[in-house]
Amino acid sequence: MKNIILMGPPGAGKGTQAKLLISKFNLPHISTGDMFREAIKNKTPLGVIASQYINDGHLVPDDVTIGLVKERLSQEDCANGYILDGFPRTIPQAEALTALTKEIGREIDFVINIDTPKEMLVERIGGRRVCKVCGAPFHIVTRKPKVDGVCDVCGGELIQRKDDNEEALNTRLEIYTKDTKPILDYYESLGLLKSFDGTIGAENLLKEISKLLEAK
Ligand code: AMP
Repeated sequence: MKNIILMGPPGAGKGTQAKLLISKFNLPHISTGDMFREAIKNKTPLGVIASQYINDGHLVPDDVTIGLVKERLSQEDCANGYILDGFPRTIPQAEALTALTKEIGREIDFVINIDTPKEMLVERIGGRRVCKVCGAPFHIVTRKPKVDGVCDVCGGELIQRKDDNEEALNTRLEIYTKDTKPILDYYESLGLLKSFDGTIGAENLLKEISKLLEAK
């Protein structure tokens, strides 16, 4: 089974890799960040809560996030595998995920960590643009769209995420180091963690990750 978690600091390329992996392996992509952004756009009760945290780079509270993931992982399309991107981000979330995936019979098979140096994260996030409509990721230098400001995939407008500014990024990196990085040891101790070099380019990284996923 391919029940996968993608881990790595903000800007490591989780979203890009998730998009490549879902089309290659035909798995649902569960990005808590995307789910929150969608809820904010639609002004749902979840969106109202999430927006108080997201824009300045803080984490949405665990109980809210865990409930959302439990509901999503229980859906039918996750029966044959899934890719979690941006969850878990704290030890309580990781422990809750272990329990809930056991409860629903969809336990984690792979934890893929994309290891990327801090200088590169700052550069990537600063130049990152995303499609307002479909969420496809671009970069003003390394992954330019064919037409400036326009999404290659759906023609939507490309925007900069509100939390991709320097101040929010610093907060996100601090939170990553303090709250999220310790999860790597947790998964190492469960024998699930595999780390990959995030500097080799998206296509090379896809090849390396695919080797692991196809070997099992
Ligand atoms: P991302 O798109 O994964 O970078 O997430 C964007 C923002 O959504 C984060 O900075 C958090 O504010 C919020 N968020 C996403 N996933 C989580 C999570 N697992 N726990 C708490 N907050 C989250």
